[in-house]
Amino acid sequence: IKVRTKPAYEIEIRGGLLTDLAQDLKDRGYGDRYFLITDSNVRQLMAEDLLEMLREAGLPVEILSFPAGEASKNMATVVELARKMVQAGADRRSAIVAFGGGVTGDIAGFLASIYMRGIAYIQIPTTLLAQVDSSVGGKTGVDLPEGKNLLGTFYQPRRVYIDYAVLGLLPLREIRQGLAEVVKYGMIKSQRLFKYLERHSGEIMQLEPEPLEHIIAESCRIKAWVVSKDEKEAGLRRILNFGHTLGHAFEAASAWRLPHGEAVAVGMVAAAKISEKRGLISPEITHRLENLLTSLGLPVRLALELPVSEVLTYLRSDKKARSQWPVFVLVRDIGETVFDPEVPEAMVKEVAEELGCR
Ligand code: NAD
Ligand code: ZN
Repeated sequence: IKVRTKPAYEIEIRGGLLTDLAQDLKDRGYGDRYFLITDSNVRQLMAEDLLEMLREAGLPVEILSFPAGEASKNMATVVELARKMVQAGADRRSAIVAFGGGVTGDIAGFLASIYMRGIAYIQIPTTLLAQVDSSVGGKTGVDLPEGKNLLGTFYQPRRVYIDYAVLGLLPLREIRQGLAEVVKYGMIKSQRLFKYLERHSGEIMQLEPEPLEHIIAESCRIKAWVVSKDEKEAGLRRILNFGHTLGHAFEAASAWRLPHGEAVAVGMVAAAKISEKRGLISPEITHRLENLLTSLGLPVRLALELPVSEVLTYLRSDKKARSQWPVFVLVRDIGETVFDPEVPEAMVKEVAEELGCR
């Protein structure tokens, strides 16, 4: 799949592609040395094996890791990795390989974008979320205590390698976080993908290769199309926020106890309900969304009782938006979005309460 950003790059999706990685990197020659960046879990589960395989093939490669988890996504980790690279003699011709979930991709991509003013990097995402979302599009960055992803860059990888065979080791709960984003792509852009998910949810939950490859490819195609049209998030790219406006607010109001995908699942139901109240869709669409999410093991109501006042406070204080009130991404059908800057606060409150806020 081609991502037509500047510069453009390709996403390759294939089960078992990691076995041919050494040869491919040699042929493509992204750097004369490679730095495999990963987290502590992935290092133990599979990065050491990958390292050995790459070295046996004669590729000059070092491995660097940091403790797994969102708590590592900060400047201290970036500085520590950068210093280790300098000490190991990495220069402008070195390339970074981000091997892990979204946290690894965001940290490693950010480091690549600033290390000696920018070096090449490639993405090898190993969570479903990273495969369908964070590895594509070139957003990199780290968190501050004041909020998530507040420091970062737009910096495109040279190539994205997606091997869905690695998902076999991923806990089912993590798989579901990625599936929420796949449902989102169906809702915003593809009636066909949505119907495919409705028909194949069982096989997807069993991680059967064929449907897995299909939904990953369709998701990447949609994300690639959106970011090609709007690389720096000036307009269209905001459709990717479907379900995320309230989803992020739910995450924040739960003090990040609610996992992202689950918050987004309920956030999408909220967006559908708001779309209904704005006269854009019939309740039947919301029901289909709820049924699909349920069949994928995702929630359609909040499992925690979140204070509605905190949800609304968060919505009014979006650190990255200029306005005091968010532009909601709504739908007028499955696969067709509408931006609505004028959703009344009372309507949002009502919907949040219907979904379990108090
Ligand atoms: P993550 O990277 O922390 O991975 C989740 C857990 O799974 C980690 O413990 C990791 O070690 C483990 N893991 C990874 N691959 C595995 C595998 N194959 N088998 C077993 N365990 C494995 O989290 P995530 O959910 O992948 O990503 C979340 C991050 O992505 C957030 O920081 C978010 O801000 C970011 N994100 C970025 C973008 C973007 O456009 N850059 C988009 C969406 C999300
Ligand atoms: Zn998301």
